[in-house]
Amino acid sequence: MKLIILDRDGVINQDSDAFIKNPDEWIALPGSLAAIARLSQAGYTVTVATNQSGLARGLFDTPTLNAIHAKLYREVAQAGGLVDSIFLCPHGPQDGCSCRKPLPGMYHDIARRYDADLTGVPAVGDSLRDLQAASAAGCTPWLVLTGNGPKTQQGELPPGTRIAADLSAVADALLQEA
Ligand SMILES: [Mg+2]
Ligand SMILES: [Zn+2]
Repeated sequence: MKLIILDRDGVINQDSDAFIKNPDEWIALPGSLAAIARLSQAGYTVTVATNQSGLARGLFDTPTLNAIHAKLYREVAQAGGLVDSIFLCPHGPQDGCSCRKPLPGMYHDIARRYDADLTGVPAVGDSLRDLQAASAAGCTPWLVLTGNGPKTQQGELPPGTRIAADLSAVADALLQEA
């Protein structure tokens, strides 16, 4: 199987320093839904791994997050794509969990769910912690220059990190290489 792992905020949708707290605040980035559709149609299983510490911080509750993700699933489907699953870390930075990126717990969960070897699996993010988690799990980290991407690009990146303007450019590159 061909798997791709996406961060959510700053990759699929606009990020906000004030967190995405309700469905109205979840706004897709230009071209991201079409990019997911092209990946789906090319046979990629698209999964999302997202830190959502807003849950631990009490900024929104699980039903609200489910409503946000219902909007994500619906808009991707309307664009002709499929997000197969969303893995999330609901914890805060002080909770000591193993799933909050930069730790690779969610990626290991994804490997188990799909019975997949993550070696070389593209994992797309806009923040250093996405790339670090991807790298720790054996994925190929892809940095997009949306969201926090431009700031992230100024720092040191895990070896082998690939850089693309946005999710659409990632899809272009992957589909061209296939
Ligand atoms: Mg992000
Ligand atoms: Zn966690």
